[in-house]
Amino acid sequence: MSTAGFHTSPTRSSYDVVIIGGAIMGSSTAWFLSDNPDFDGSVLVVERDPTYGACSTAHTNSCMRQQFSTALNVQISQFAADFVKNIRTYMGNDDRVPNLNIHSFGYMYLADTPEFATVLRANAKIQHQVGAATQLMTADQIKADYPFYNVDDIVLGSINLVDEGYWDGATVFDWWRRQARERGVEYVSGEVVAMTKNPVGSRVESVALAGGQVISCGQLVNASGPRAARTTKMIGIDVPVEPRKRFTWIFKAEQPLDRDLPLTIDPSGVHVREIGGGTYQCGGHSDHDPPVAYDDFTMDHALWEQHIWPMLATRIPQFEAIKVTSEWAGHYSMNVFDHNAIMGPHHEVENFIFLNGFSGHGLQQSPAMGRGTAEWLTYGAYRSLDLTPFHYDRIARDAPIMEKAVI
Ligand SMILES: Cc1cc2nc3c(=O)[nH]c(=O)nc-3n(C[C@H](O)[C@H](O)[C@H](O)COP(=O)(O)OP(=O)(O)OC[C@H]3O[C@@H](n4cnc5c(N)ncnc54)[C@H](O)[C@@H]3O)c2cc1C
Repeated sequence: MSTAGFHTSPTRSSYDVVIIGGAIMGSSTAWFLSDNPDFDGSVLVVERDPTYGACSTAHTNSCMRQQFSTALNVQISQFAADFVKNIRTYMGNDDRVPNLNIHSFGYMYLADTPEFATVLRANAKIQHQVGAATQLMTADQIKADYPFYNVDDIVLGSINLVDEGYWDGATVFDWWRRQARERGVEYVSGEVVAMTKNPVGSRVESVALAGGQVISCGQLVNASGPRAARTTKMIGIDVPVEPRKRFTWIFKAEQPLDRDLPLTIDPSGVHVREIGGGTYQCGGHSDHDPPVAYDDFTMDHALWEQHIWPMLATRIPQFEAIKVTSEWAGHYSMNVFDHNAIMGPHHEVENFIFLNGFSGHGLQQSPAMGRGTAEWLTYGAYRSLDLTPFHYDRIARDAPIMEKAVI
């Protein structure tokens, strides 16, 4: 990703909005602010790594689904689908912006127990209520449509072939940054290392950068991904977000499948999907899943050999003969409280806005979350989707909204 367009230090000493983290969430928020005629403030995005080499956004699998267990999460993904398919219209009919589509191979959730099948049925009911096209399938139906699966142990499957699959998140990210900059949003290369609150502790007055500059802020957005808790600690507050390692492998199959492979969520947690041309992408993590150091991206080769590949070959016997062509480790910013977004203001430090904890589904949530956060910054309220259920205060109240469909 280009490092062009970053200032080495801010051009002003004060901004209406300072966004910490300029990856997909920070950039979505910046773009939606720049797109709102009711917002005429100044925006600074501070990004510690303009190469974006280590952020979650750089390691994503860039898929979207409507199969969530809460209606709000389904609606959030529905807006993502609409935004992606109509990106040029959303971006002011700018004819430099490419038309994008969604490769809707669907997510195939496979249940191997009656209990999990019950969860899939309950989720499908919620999804149908808000217009998702989820289909429940018996093992025989799965076998008829996708003969390559071994379904011996499968009780039920759940798939949605409408607006569910791969999308080009990197292009959306590029265009958000490009247009936001053109409209006056300033991106600076630097790290926020400290914050100063007002004497009563109700507002953040300024942030300090590693280079020594102190920047005053009207409002502050924490879009720092897996480092969310570190950023929040700067005002003495805890947020239950941890960096958790997630591995991706790209492989070629000696005998490619004869039809699109849905993003298959095996009951073991291993997931695999179509890329095209006989190439597939597989993801997983080890059962022992502790928080890791922010700079720990070492691969676990034994995990592939001993767990992931055997699982793959059991579920899809044609994947007995495959060759890994690339692999990487990335970090989820895992919300260990309830696996859902944490957003909105802090209940005491009122201009500190969270945009954190997206776990494994932040890329698809970025259009709705950026739009919502920009509305909150502009109006102090949501004008499109009501995202208040995801506000930070639920943590203080110990009132989780558990997302059951987690990958
Ligand atoms: C392997 C993997 C697969 C995934 N697959 C999917 C998927 O298929 N679909 C989906 O929807 N989601 C997926 N996700 C999740 C999704 O990628 C993330 O939720 C999303 O990218 C989070 O974006 P973010 O902007 O919040 O965080 P990040 O991309 O991590 O960005 C945070 C930024 O903040 C910067 N920063 C941190 N601290 C500071 C500081 N103090 N000062 C300045 N800058 C700072 C960092 O340098 C970084 O650039 C996946 C994630 C991983 C790891």
